[in-house]
Parts: sequence; structure tokens; C-alpha cells
Amino acid sequence: MDKIMLVTGGSRGIGAATCLMAAKYGYAVAVNYRSNREAAEQVVAAIEADGGRAIAVQADVADEAQVVNMFTTIDDTLGRVTALVNNAGIVDQPSKVADMSAERVAKMMSVNVVGPFICAREAIRRMGTEHGGSGGVIVNVSSAASHAAGKGGAGTYIDYGASKGAIDTLTEGLAHELAGENIRVNAVRPGVVNTEIHASGGLPDKPEQAKSAIPLGRVGEPEDIAEAIIYLAEARFTTGAFLDVDGGV
Ligand code: NAP
Repeated sequence: MDKIMLVTGGSRGIGAATCLMAAKYGYAVAVNYRSNREAAEQVVAAIEADGGRAIAVQADVADEAQVVNMFTTIDDTLGRVTALVNNAGIVDQPSKVADMSAERVAKMMSVNVVGPFICAREAIRRMGTEHGGSGGVIVNVSSAASHAAGKGGAGTYIDYGASKGAIDTLTEGLAHELAGENIRVNAVRPGVVNTEIHASGGLPDKPEQAKSAIPLGRVGEPEDIAEAIIYLAEARFTTGAFLDVDGGV
């Protein structure tokens, strides 16, 4: 059976590294992006130059209709997905809860929680044995901020930490709900990783500042997380697992 992986937010950072590594493991890759088409097409070009198959596919994961269209596009080009990596995610500017608007929290939950739920739903409808599929795998990208290692995002973005807490529960629940349908569900929980997400949240120096508190003495690189995602995608007797990839925090 062809291995077909959709990586949400595959155009940059951890998602892009995951797309490139997945292609090396024999997956045809759907590289999802929200707005940066050029970045997604660069990932596709790199995979094709290496002899792999890939497409760039636009969708805001928080928009149900766009997600449904994205899966239909993948059906019609690469085929039905066998692996979903729920990677797309956002942070917001540093803020304490005392200053957070409902609008901000709702947006966070919409991208970081509703998006992965809808993407999982569409993947299940293609992979699940109750839906005529033959199984597959979902890997969710959570965060150290979801639990004690990242102090729940205290002081900067508890809304983000809470969204990743929901992803941990989604992982636990779905792993049980879907085991009988031959779908495995696992999560990685990265610590601080060297990507553009920190600048987008108003903390460009976060990787540099975080270094000294990390036992392994450096922040993660996107490839460090991609390696763990691909491991969980391939580990055929592993479901409901959480892999903390954080340099030992
Ligand atoms: P990044 O460098 O900011 O890249 C974000 C990616 O997600 C881009 O491809 C972006 O696409 C896409 N994206 C954002 N909003 C989207 C939406 N609504 N719909 C579809 N795609 C969307 O982020 P990253 O650091 O690689 O983070 C990836 C995941 O790892 C996130 O879930 C993040 O929470 C998690 N994580 C990161 C760290 C870290 O330190 N970097 C630590 C723990 C967990 P466009 O380019 O088109 O906007």
C-alpha cells in the first residue's frame, strides 16, 4: 500500500523538516500551508529533486470547508492519506491571563484544537476500517507547554499551553477510540525549537534565552522533532504514546 502523509503547516519549521524526512522514508507528501505558498512549493521542489512525490495544498486548518477541500484534493492527486501529522499551530504575543481577550483565546483554540480535530475526522473517514480504509496513523504535535516541563505557558501564553493540553487529551482519547480501526495515535511534545514561531509571538530571542536551562545545552532543531514524528508514524506497535523531545527539561 502507498504511504501518503499529510503534514499540516508543512511549509516551514518543524512541518517542513517532517515533510522532507517523510519523503526519505517513502511517503508521498501533502505539504499544507495557510498563506506562504512559496515556502510550501520550495519543500515540494526539494522532495521532487530527490525523486519523491509531493504536492502543496492550501487550507487554514481552522476553516472546516477548507480542510474538507484539502482532503478531497489529496484524494484526487496522491490518494487517500495513510498518515496525518497535526503540526500547524500558532502562538500569540506574551500575555498573562488577566489581560487576555476572549477573542484571542477563541482564535488560539480554533487553530490549535479545532483544526486538529477536523483534520483527524477527515483522516479517520479515509483510514478507519469502519469507513472502508485499512488503517493508518495520526501524530499530533503538542508542546512541553502542555504540562509541568513548560509550566503550562505561565507568564507568556497559558492559552497556548491549554490548547496543547487539549491535544494531549485528543491523543489519549483517539488512541483508545481508534485502536480497533487499526489507526494508531501518538504525540510529540517538543521543548524550545529553533523556528520562526517565536518571532511570530513577539519573542524572537526565546531560543537563545532558553538554551542555558536545557540539560543537553542547546535548543532543538526542526529535524530533531521531525525524527521523533517519523519514528511515531512508523512504530507499528506504538499507540497512545507521548514522546518528550525537549533536550531533557
Ligand atoms: P512555524 O515555524 O511558525 O511554522 C508554522 C507552520 O504552520 C507554517 O507552515 C504555517 O503556514 C502553518 N500554519 C500556521 N497557522 C496555520 C493555519 N491556521 N492553517 C494551516 N497552516 C497554518 O511553527 P513551528 O515552530 O514549526 O511549530 C510547528 C508546531 O510545533 C506547532 O504546533 C507548535 O505549537 C509546535 N511547537 C513548536 C515549538 C517551537 O519551539 N518551535 C515548541 C513546541 C511545540 P504559513 O507559512 O502558510 O503561515
